[in-house]
Amino acid sequence: MKKQIKKLLIANRGEIAVRVLRSAKEMGIVTVAVYSEVDRLMPHVRLADEAYCIGKATAAETYLQKEKIIEVALKSNSDAIHPGYGFLSENAEFSKMVEDAGIIFVGPPASAIKSMGDKIAARKLVKAAGVPIVPGTDVQISDISEASAFADKFTYPILLKAAGGGGGKGMRIVSNVDELASAFRSAQSEAQSAFGDNRVYVEKYLENPRHIEFQILADQYGNAIHLGERECSIQRRHQKIIEESPSVIITPEMRKKMGESAVKAALSSGYVNAGTIEFLVDKHRNYYFLEMNTRLQVEHPVTEMITGIDLVKEQLRIAMGQPLSLKQEEIRFRGHALECRIYAEDSENNFLPSIGIITKLRSPQGFGVREDRGVDEGNEISVYYDPMISKLITWADTRDEAIHKMTRALKEYNLAGVQTNIQACSWIINHPKFIEGNFDTHFIKEYFTPEMLRNENKQIPEALAIAAAFIQKFEKIEAQQIAGTDRDGSISNWKTKRYENLRG
Ligand code: ADP
Repeated sequence: MKKQIKKLLIANRGEIAVRVLRSAKEMGIVTVAVYSEVDRLMPHVRLADEAYCIGKATAAETYLQKEKIIEVALKSNSDAIHPGYGFLSENAEFSKMVEDAGIIFVGPPASAIKSMGDKIAARKLVKAAGVPIVPGTDVQISDISEASAFADKFTYPILLKAAGGGGGKGMRIVSNVDELASAFRSAQSEAQSAFGDNRVYVEKYLENPRHIEFQILADQYGNAIHLGERECSIQRRHQKIIEESPSVIITPEMRKKMGESAVKAALSSGYVNAGTIEFLVDKHRNYYFLEMNTRLQVEHPVTEMITGIDLVKEQLRIAMGQPLSLKQEEIRFRGHALECRIYAEDSENNFLPSIGIITKLRSPQGFGVREDRGVDEGNEISVYYDPMISKLITWADTRDEAIHKMTRALKEYNLAGVQTNIQACSWIINHPKFIEGNFDTHFIKEYFTPEMLRNENKQIPEALAIAAAFIQKFEKIEAQQIAGTDRDGSISNWKTKRYENLRG
């Protein structure tokens, strides 16, 4: 069914709200922002055509307020709501409420969000569609003896996982039978408090896998394509920080095979709009479905850079009922894109968030450098939301060039007021293993220690001290020369004359 979107409400904040409204504006769509009181000075509020305050501060009283957001959409005559990522983006109930209110939800139908949001249900659907899944129990476990029976068959380590999980929560690695009981209890209770759902199931814990995901697009008429992979193995606490496309390990044959699996997996849930199929790849290059994210992904820009396709515009076109404008064979990949997520955090202290006001902010620029940012100088990184400052993306013909460009861009990034992971990102992308492309999801755990950054920091003051001494010495000599004195203090006519000439 075709419907026009003339006005779009963006139910989000930060960089993704800005990202979405930019594409909407380019399509001639009027944009509406919602914001919390603490966010009133943020760029997404300033850049939108209209903005409405929806509450004080916490996510629960603002960006998670389903009724309030729908009320604003109706009051402002918005035809559609884009949920961004996080907050209500994967909330099936919200998607249904939006559609029931006669508003277009820019995302998949509630049924697809529901079946893919439940990891146990998703595994069943995808397996039935013929896509390989990580070995695991097909049902929730109610007792540790079931987990122990699984481990007897597949050997330790195993992974306890929350069925309704996300963001690395409710996951516990179990290395032996002695750890099982307490891991089960804590996974269950974390799942209950984070998702209101204490169901836990078991997966084989794959040793040293790579996290590789596929971007898919599906229209309302059963057509679906994939836009290639993103390599997302560089993670801390199971959360991605550096992503790239293409992945060094994916051959054209593997891309074709995994891409076809991704399309099958998406269609198994009746998926519509943009989505991501995540896979784990083991050292033998076997791949296994991990989960589907039923929304736009944080790292979507790397796909945009190498395909030249604006994913938000595609989302809006699909939501308006247009058929996909591209066929699989028309998708071309060009060059290499790398993304660093710039966080306000203390890399030397277990990546803990660093809150405060950004007192200075100068972003890197230049050919092939893109920054998606949702905060400006003077804005605050508060305790209320995710401390991401921006996403820095570089694009170049080759991977090496993209790394060099990123290194240069990170050096140019000038930010004060909060601590950031800028130096850590630079350290990672210049690590020999990263440069070789020889890494997996354990890279940070294996190679990164705070001491490494501290050592680098120590070298900087030393280098600065040497440079300062040089400058001082040079200035002294120059001053002596300008004054026409020799180093011993006596007047030199020759020097006086020379400098007079130069100054004249
Ligand atoms: P969440 O939904 O909480 O983000 P995922 O299922 O997407 O959880 O997994 C997040 C990360 O955890 C993966 O990228 C990977 O690093 C690790 N992981 C998840 N499942 C496994 C597994 N079976 N074996 C090894 N690592 C895993």
